[in-house]
Amino acid sequence: MKNLFRMILFIPRLIFRMIWHLFWGIVKTALVIAIILFALAYYANHSGSDLAQSFSGMMDNVAAFFADTKSDGLQNKLANLSTEDFTYYSGARWAQNSATVYIDTEVPTLINAYETAIANWNATGAFTFTIVTNPEEADIIATDYSDSSSQAAGLAETEINAVTNQISHVEVKLNTYYLLNDSYSYTLDRIIHTAEHELGHAIGLAHDDSETSVMQSSGSYYGIQEADISAVQQLYAD
Ligand SMILES: [Zn+2]
Repeated sequence: MKNLFRMILFIPRLIFRMIWHLFWGIVKTALVIAIILFALAYYANHSGSDLAQSFSGMMDNVAAFFADTKSDGLQNKLANLSTEDFTYYSGARWAQNSATVYIDTEVPTLINAYETAIANWNATGAFTFTIVTNPEEADIIATDYSDSSSQAAGLAETEINAVTNQISHVEVKLNTYYLLNDSYSYTLDRIIHTAEHELGHAIGLAHDDSETSVMQSSGSYYGIQEADISAVQQLYAD
């Protein structure tokens, strides 16, 4: 009788045990995935490697996608359009407060924007860009790209010497998808501000959302400010 009872209970017990194992399997898997994602997110935000940058960019795109679905149209998107995409190494700078630039774009508006932005930075006296005609001689390549998938109006890709923390090469890019798209009605001033902002990254500046600054992460409403000049002077103080 007792054995029969055991045999009858055996099946439901087995099923219960299987469900229990399955449940814990899912919990454990979810936990491991969460830890891996957390580690990757941490790595992406704290590392300058290309892999980390592309992962960080991917997460920004995911965030932008969800933010986008909540935004109410073009004007909102325009107002918030950022220049988020840049690589930043804390304290990294050129050996001296000058660098050569090769303007690598055929678009007259962007050539104008880059030349004006360079003249405006040079006028501060804090940093001097020299335009060169040979890309081989250039520290900085100033070019364009078209990317509708990111919300960035521009970007700056910085290479540094990891030993000296000195900047060795920068590619700054202006996103023609937004800047030259009539439906975004970007003024020339804001295109110039965007060029000044990306060149600010090329100098070694990070974002500054705490005050009026050309380095604000979105909007491109301001040109080079006193705060920006001070930041460059401080970076190149010794
Ligand atoms: Zn930026």
